[in-house]
Amino acid sequence: MTPVSRSLPPEASTSEQAVARTAATSEFKNAVEWFRDQEAEFSRWQIEVARIPAPPFGEAARADWLAERFHALGLVKVHKDSIGNVLGSCLGISSAFVSLIAHLDTVFPANTPLNVRQQGRKLYGPGISDNASGITALLAIAGAFANFDLPHAASLLFIGNVGEEGEGDLRGMRHIFTDSAWKDSIRASLVLDGAGTDTIVAEALGSRRFEVTVRGPGGHSWSDFGMPNPIVVLSRAIHLFSQTRVSNSPKTTFNVGVIRGGTSVNSIPESASMRVDVRSSSEPEIQRLELELHRSVERALQEEEARTGAARNSHRRSTLAFEIVGIGDRPGGELDTNARILQIARAVDAHLGNSSQVQRASTDANIPISMGREAIAIGAGGSGGGAHTLQEWFDTTGRTLALERILLIALCLAGIEK
Ligand SMILES: [Zn+2]
Repeated sequence: MTPVSRSLPPEASTSEQAVARTAATSEFKNAVEWFRDQEAEFSRWQIEVARIPAPPFGEAARADWLAERFHALGLVKVHKDSIGNVLGSCLGISSAFVSLIAHLDTVFPANTPLNVRQQGRKLYGPGISDNASGITALLAIAGAFANFDLPHAASLLFIGNVGEEGEGDLRGMRHIFTDSAWKDSIRASLVLDGAGTDTIVAEALGSRRFEVTVRGPGGHSWSDFGMPNPIVVLSRAIHLFSQTRVSNSPKTTFNVGVIRGGTSVNSIPESASMRVDVRSSSEPEIQRLELELHRSVERALQEEEARTGAARNSHRRSTLAFEIVGIGDRPGGELDTNARILQIARAVDAHLGNSSQVQRASTDANIPISMGREAIAIGAGGSGGGAHTLQEWFDTTGRTLALERILLIALCLAGIEK
């Protein structure tokens, strides 16, 4: 498609005009050309970073790697903050910042074999798309600012953040927006997460996470046979809870993601636990599922006590116990439909002929969106699949379009230098 020299109708919105003006600059065109030429280097970065383990609360090695790349690309004020986020800036003339953010962590435990490899345009390995592709895009955009004299009034703040996945509970972003020197000066945030160019996440999906622990007296599998078994209670609870009805609209989901318990095959376990994730665009639905989870565990406990006779034996009444602890709480929210960032993203997609849909998801953008700040999450291009599995893959075809899209949105958010 022709980038810009089309003349705009007088009624064209200011966003459309800003996009067309920015895309027409030779600096921007050169940067896009550079994106095209650098694909081999981008793939190398992506493979390199995916080979560094980064479980939640274990992102330090990957953060160091990113800080080195930030330095090498010429970002200024590169540093790690007190909780491990990596930040680097490209300064403009105003005191406002536009932040570009990609999470460093993966869902994979530290000892996961990271068999990362390339076959032609396809890259394979745990975390290769989510979020090695986002980190790669973050670096590509930083590289464009370093190599070309791209006009921008606001400063750009590049952030590789910790704690997006699982029990990380968005701690990296929470810190940036509640406890950092930038919290009040970030004008808009662009979260880069996973593959694709077809979505704009402007609605933050709320979620709540729980750890359910069931405890019992334990015992020997032979000599204490008949004592209540926490693993059996947990299994019953899962069976009961999984029959909970959920609606499609508002879409509501639940997942039992982790179960643990027991010490050996010939011991009645003393404890068993599970981790449960509940999501909905409706807060009352989340609360309803929380209540159902409680009821399921209570009933499972009663059934086990009845089965083992513990309930009829007063001195054993209290032998089974459970607790449900909240381990995650991601705030939901929605971007105002007139938000500038959304207008710009839409105008950029129209300009690039890229069809995209506004979606709801749980991302790092939840934090700023829930605070009424301007933020969206978008993909880092290409295509991907098998997210959160060892079979994860990423196809680099189409990455340039995403980088062009991200850069154009960032430049329009940052404004043209006068
Ligand atoms: Zn992700």
